[in-house]
Amino acid sequence: MQVAAHVGAEQAGVEEETKVKLCCTQRVGIIVLLSLVSIPLHEMGHYIVYKCANIPVHVTFQSVHPVMPISGLVAVLGLAGDPAFSLSAALACLLIATQRPGFFWITAAFTNATLRLFPCTMDLLHAIYGKMPFSDEGEIARGLTHSSFARFLVVLCFFAAAATLTVLAGRQYRFNSLTSTRP
Ligand SMILES: [Zn+2]
Repeated sequence: MQVAAHVGAEQAGVEEETKVKLCCTQRVGIIVLLSLVSIPLHEMGHYIVYKCANIPVHVTFQSVHPVMPISGLVAVLGLAGDPAFSLSAALACLLIATQRPGFFWITAAFTNATLRLFPCTMDLLHAIYGKMPFSDEGEIARGLTHSSFARFLVVLCFFAAAATLTVLAGRQYRFNSLTSTRP
């Protein structure tokens, strides 16, 4: 009787372990998928602004550029569309995550927010060393001002927004329930 109970408990343990492993694989899949989706989602910001301004664009998986060189307000707005889109997507997913707890929405918020941290860090360094912009945020800053310090401050605002959303999304993860089997 005792042996049967022991075998049953062992079997349940193995089943639980298999479930956790499956769930981890599922979560890795979700992270990879959402990271890949966040890139074209980011580029959508450029696309919408240029499309509204009737500017022909060249589109690839990770870039949307006007076919002809453009300048002025529409150029700055076109560049701003991207970070604005990523940060808004992160905020929207974060708000959904507070209503619908689970791995998917938190990770969607996290990937959209963290996506801007590296380019912003590079643009902060490029502003300090007076180099050409690295990414959208740097281009926006350079479009607004020629002062290195002001450029640094503009990029810092984008960095602060992305970092805040990253921390807020990160805090939604329940690390004590990482072994939970809910995706
Ligand atoms: Zn972009």
